[in-house]
Amino acid sequence: MKKLIISSLSVFLISFSVIGQSVQELIDKVDVNRLELTVSEFSGEQTTIVNGNEVTIINRQHVNNDLAAQYLKEKLQLLDNLTVVEQDFNTYGKNIIATQVGKTNPDNIYLVCAHYDAVADYCADDNATGAAAVLEIARILSTQCLDNTIVYALWDEEEIGLRGSNYYANYAQSNNLNIQGVINMDMMGYDGDEPGESGDNVFDIDVRDLHGSLVIKDNLLTILDDYTFNLDPRVVNPGTTASDHASFWNKGFPAVLVGESWETDDESIYYHSSADRLSTLDLPYFHELTKFVAAYMVTKGGLFSVDNTVSSSTTMLTANQNAASYQWINCETNTPIPGETNQTFYPIINGDYAVKVTMGSCTEMSDCISIATLSIEESVSDYFKISPNPVTATLTIESSLKTPIFIYLYNVSGQLVLETTSNKKKSKMDVSSFDSGIYYLKIKANQKSSTFKVIKE
Ligand SMILES: [Zn+2]
Repeated sequence: MKKLIISSLSVFLISFSVIGQSVQELIDKVDVNRLELTVSEFSGEQTTIVNGNEVTIINRQHVNNDLAAQYLKEKLQLLDNLTVVEQDFNTYGKNIIATQVGKTNPDNIYLVCAHYDAVADYCADDNATGAAAVLEIARILSTQCLDNTIVYALWDEEEIGLRGSNYYANYAQSNNLNIQGVINMDMMGYDGDEPGESGDNVFDIDVRDLHGSLVIKDNLLTILDDYTFNLDPRVVNPGTTASDHASFWNKGFPAVLVGESWETDDESIYYHSSADRLSTLDLPYFHELTKFVAAYMVTKGGLFSVDNTVSSSTTMLTANQNAASYQWINCETNTPIPGETNQTFYPIINGDYAVKVTMGSCTEMSDCISIATLSIEESVSDYFKISPNPVTATLTIESSLKTPIFIYLYNVSGQLVLETTSNKKKSKMDVSSFDSGIYYLKIKANQKSSTFKVIKE
């Protein structure tokens, strides 16, 4: 995968919309402090800002969870590359759904979801954890170009009959949505075991042999092998139907549940009570589970790859990605070189250069490549001679070749400011109107080429 340019260019890169990274780099971005903060705000342990007001979201019961829905919507709307909608499905019911359209196969959909409604105050584990995990995965994946479409969904009215997810699954079936995998996260943060002991990191994957759901389970187990997580899986088959993934099973879509281990009686002892609070959660465990689901989503989303490698010769640099748009960058000044937007770039002077390659909304930056063997003449080269230098008004260019010469004048930032040709042995060039300073004059004829550093007074 592509390397990022670090150090001096990193500030510059921030302004780009999308920077490609590896699966592991993205897993590592899952931030336990952010997860904790979101659960704390979303379960009413601390105040937060919704609609511009400081509020406390203690209650997420379905008749009283407008603040919670608005909180989720605002968090998702802050992210790039997402379309966020509220899907109202009855008097109170509202799903919050954000879509990140795939660059290669936009019709292939992977869905990561959690319910956000609750049965009592707080309900941190059930299911502020799942909601926070969806937001965190969205925060990280939305910075990437992905082949497939990702839907981040937060369901309402799970607790009174999986109503939100059922409404969506019904809609998905009616509209023939090509949903290839659903990961439902419900209760992600409790790993109690014996009182006073840290948990065993066991978690459940609830699955049934329905509509390809076993493939998701297999892929999840592969991800556990391919990357390092402090987790111990239990595959539960036939898995529970008591959460939103069951809505997808019912409508013919592959789905699984990922969460703490009911199978080993290690679910929250505060389940469905207002004692289900942040302080009862095992945050490192919650962090690992979120990283794990993020890894699945990145893998299935498919990191869209823009080739950011460059081929170089002594006189030119060529971006290896075809059919893109290009902007060559002077690495020493961290600035784009005006007009240098072709796939191939001929530097005028020695230096370090990079290219920003953009395909659609996906941009990647190459490494900086050094060009060190260009020679810069003062006034005489093998075939050409210029005079006077410094010059005030008229530059005389003499050629010893019989073929036409092509003349290019660049300013100090590499921008072409004058271009002309000549058939004469001795040609005159009026530079009186140019600002004083340093210019580079490149003269080419057939395979011969020389570059002169010209001082304009
Ligand atoms: Zn729940």
